[in-house]
Amino acid sequence: MNFLIAGVLAPIAYFLIRYIVKKFVMSLIVSAKNNSNVKNMAQCEKCKMFLDEGELFEKDGRLICKKNECNR
Ligand SMILES: [Zn+2]
Repeated sequence: MNFLIAGVLAPIAYFLIRYIVKKFVMSLIVSAKNNSNVKNMAQCEKCKMFLDEGELFEKDGRLICKKNECNR
């Protein structure tokens, strides 16, 4: 009897776990895509480094990063 129950539960558990893992992986992919869309790369006009737009700010009409050597 136990063998029968295991034979029924094992496939159900297998598909349930597969479904959960698939959902988890899909949500990871979606959040990774969202992150890459939000973060636009831009170039610091002083050191020519490419950084996320959030890491740069405008100073005298030029995009500059937060490094000390660029803020002089
Ligand atoms: Zn810079």
